[in-house]
Amino acid sequence: MDFTLSDEQRMIYEYGKSLVKQFDRAYWVEKARQRAFPAEMYQQAADDGFVGMMVDEKYGGAGLGMLEMALLQEGLSNEGIPLLSLIVGATMSMSLISDHGTEEQKQAYLPGACRGDIRFCFAVTEADAGTNTINVTSLTRSVKDKGRYVLNGRKTFITDAECAEYMIVVTRSTPLKEAQRKTDGFTLVLIDTKVAGIEVHPIDISIEVPEDKYTVFFDDVDVGPENIIGEVDRGFEILFESLNPERIIISAVCCGLGRYALNRAVEYANERVVFNGPIGAYQALQHPLARGKTEIEMASLMMRKAAWLFDRGEPCGSESNMAKYASSEAGIYAVDAALQCFGGNGFTKEYGIFDIYPIVRLFRTAPLNSEMVLNYIAERDLGLPRSY
Ligand SMILES: Cc1cc2nc3c(=O)[nH]c(=O)nc-3n(C[C@H](O)[C@H](O)[C@H](O)COP(=O)(O)OP(=O)(O)OC[C@H]3O[C@@H](n4cnc5c(N)ncnc54)[C@H](O)[C@@H]3O)c2cc1C
Repeated sequence: MDFTLSDEQRMIYEYGKSLVKQFDRAYWVEKARQRAFPAEMYQQAADDGFVGMMVDEKYGGAGLGMLEMALLQEGLSNEGIPLLSLIVGATMSMSLISDHGTEEQKQAYLPGACRGDIRFCFAVTEADAGTNTINVTSLTRSVKDKGRYVLNGRKTFITDAECAEYMIVVTRSTPLKEAQRKTDGFTLVLIDTKVAGIEVHPIDISIEVPEDKYTVFFDDVDVGPENIIGEVDRGFEILFESLNPERIIISAVCCGLGRYALNRAVEYANERVVFNGPIGAYQALQHPLARGKTEIEMASLMMRKAAWLFDRGEPCGSESNMAKYASSEAGIYAVDAALQCFGGNGFTKEYGIFDIYPIVRLFRTAPLNSEMVLNYIAERDLGLPRSY
């Protein structure tokens, strides 16, 4: 693996620095407080060609890979402006359509998505299934002799379900008890969020991020072959493919936000005097900051390795999981160390340091909790028996 970035990759990584001149952290925080999608910032990123980073040039994208997408997200997060829509939208959904969509689906969705006109949300979680996706019960049933299907069920915690134009829904087309293998019988459905039979209810979550979360109800939603991504009953394999990119890009958010918090803390610690010199001279503050810096940079390397492997078509499950685990832990540690430097000011809205904490902390729990990540590493890399 080559650790040096090409000029193009460096430009992508540095893009956050130019975007922040127009849309800075204060803009993002204001949008988060209003629970309003940062539409102008997203549009600018799309206009500059970054939303379609992983989409083939034929469909309006840049034809680049996971590493470039991760560098983009890391660079934006370094400036305190994580563009969370890049996770489920540009990284997961658009790649999924690119890799498994029909020609008609690619033509219908990708150019608009690259332009920023179309956004996607991704609906996996169900209240009664939780971490165990196998237990999903939202059902796409075929309507006899009509060549069409109906979708019924309920999803929860779906980010952006109201604002996004389209939703990729992970459904079962064969109920678990009828499936030969438990991973059989899944079908991925791509539907317009505004069609008849879909109802969304906001969930009041405690984290201030611009993208709202919703419970989504499906009541006899009409689904045609044109709405199905990949093959009926074979959706699990496709879903599985999109999980490593999700882990990698979340890792990029955590590394970037951790760096942002550390940079802010260093600036503050160099200026703040309460005894006879700047508080940054105290090793009690220096060491946590130095540890945070070390852990972030190590996690970032693993994240880039995972992305690099992904782009080469090599297995990267272990590296993606390790990167996600290391980055979320490093991010949480770094933000906490930064917070301590700020004393009481860290808890004020004016300084906004505590505000960084909930989002990095989220990634210890969702989309995949750290326990499941460690389970994966224990089973796959260490060869230990499965406990659940
Ligand atoms: C802000 C936010 C945004 C989200 N956005 C989306 C979205 O856009 N789309 C979507 O589909 N979902 C989304 N989710 C849902 C998220 O993916 C789920 O919350 C997550 O998958 C965990 O499911 P659960 O909440 O039911 O936890 P549970 O499955 O009930 O697990 C609870 C806890 O039990 C522990 N645990 C569970 N299983 C094991 C095990 N085998 N071994 C050890 N420990 C275990 C873990 O600590 C876990 O945190 C979002 C959630 C949040 C909070």
